[in-house]
Amino acid sequence: MKVDIFTLKRQYEEIKDELKGPIENVMLSGGFILGEDVGLFEKEFAEYCGVKYGIGVNSGTDALFLACLACGIGQGDEVITPSYTYIATSLGISMAGARPVFVDTEEKTYCIDVTKLEKAITKKTRAILLVHLYGHPADMDPIMQIAKKHKLKVIEDCAQAHGALYKNKKVGSFGDAACFSFYPTKNLGAFGDGGMVITSSEEIKDRMSLLHDYGRKGRYEHIIKGYNSRLDTLQAAILRVKLKHLNEWNEKRRKNADLYTKLFKEAKLDMILPYEESYAKHIYHQYTVRVKNRAVLMEKLADKGVRTLIHYPIPIHLQECYKELGYKKRDFPVAEKCCEEIMSLPMYPELTEQEIRYVVEQFKTT
Ligand SMILES: *Cc1c(COP(=O)(O)O)cnc(C)c1O
Repeated sequence: MKVDIFTLKRQYEEIKDELKGPIENVMLSGGFILGEDVGLFEKEFAEYCGVKYGIGVNSGTDALFLACLACGIGQGDEVITPSYTYIATSLGISMAGARPVFVDTEEKTYCIDVTKLEKAITKKTRAILLVHLYGHPADMDPIMQIAKKHKLKVIEDCAQAHGALYKNKKVGSFGDAACFSFYPTKNLGAFGDGGMVITSSEEIKDRMSLLHDYGRKGRYEHIIKGYNSRLDTLQAAILRVKLKHLNEWNEKRRKNADLYTKLFKEAKLDMILPYEESYAKHIYHQYTVRVKNRAVLMEKLADKGVRTLIHYPIPIHLQECYKELGYKKRDFPVAEKCCEEIMSLPMYPELTEQEIRYVVEQFKTT
């Protein structure tokens, strides 16, 4: 048997008839840039997340970058962010001209360690940019309290957490702004790049509207030097169809995760399984486990047709591109340990019970 870490083919088979009409409508309308579906999807997705506004952009990275600018963050500012995440999180901060200041990871949820957050604050700190990693929400209450106390903006990186809940509220509805990616493999993915910034602040929404579309007010009237970062109409039309399935797909991911966890627990293997805090509804963008003998295990699994990946092998503070910040090994021991032990197993809504059982069996025999 072959079990890939990810496939979009099954999802496409399931919805291809639903997609035909909306895609054809875009083709016939000719409104490829900022066409009707963009505004409708912005509204529908903001509503889904429980906020007032959505502004579609080119990618999740652009969402982070432009959200920083829209929050008034720039040169000379510091933004607190986890070291253990995908590189795009901190690149967004860097693109805005600010300096990322890293904080270690909490070992169970893999999100930013809120007990270490306050120590990272300096006079230059302007914001906290946190990540709901793998689909598990960060601990928002203490984060919002610290932000309020120090008058910091809060930006949520929700690129892996479309539909995840913190205390029964959608992630993305807590911060001043939240950033989503619609990269094809995300829980809500387009057929190409795409992203969105959501917010309930009219001020941030207005700034985002300028920033992502050449800084223009009228057709040829430019108030600021903006950027060209828009969500394609075609992608918006596709995402509108997919959004209707998101809850059901997330539930299937949760069911798959539960089965993995049950089988691994029964097998009593020496490994650390994903954890779900009592305040959290995890949507399992990734199902990650931690093991001691990762390299050997991954190779053996590959031999048996099971593809796995490492999210992420290098913490951001040790990435070459950030060497000018002067961080060194041992600065964030939890993040570094996770990078050595973590591995992601096949996870998507359409994964079958038989496939999950097969994956767990291979763990038992290696
Ligand atoms: C995917 C991802 C991004 C970047 O999104 P793109 O659309 O690929 O630019 C940012 N942050 C996290 C945590 C991600 O997983």
